[in-house]
Amino acid sequence: MVDMMEVCKKAIENYGVESQIMMVMEEMSELQKELCKNYRGKENSTCIAEEIADVEIMLEQMKILFDVHEQSKKFLEFKLQRLMKRLEVV
Ligand SMILES: [Mg+2]
Repeated sequence: MVDMMEVCKKAIENYGVESQIMMVMEEMSELQKELCKNYRGKENSTCIAEEIADVEIMLEQMKILFDVHEQSKKFLEFKLQRLMKRLEVV
């Protein structure tokens, strides 16, 4: 299994901070494009899966770059709990 954090740290070192911040936007727009195509009726679940992976790799780099792993994990837990409560009410 590849060490995701290790690879992501190397990517930031190699390509630089600014480049990787631009890249996360590029990858998010690629995912957005595939989701739009799917909405219009195209069967592209493989493309969607690929773009989700790209975005996840970039999100990991953003967590490293902004040093927010712990904070992000706490927000995730908080927001999942909140969503769960909202869904119980419905
Ligand atoms: Mg991509």
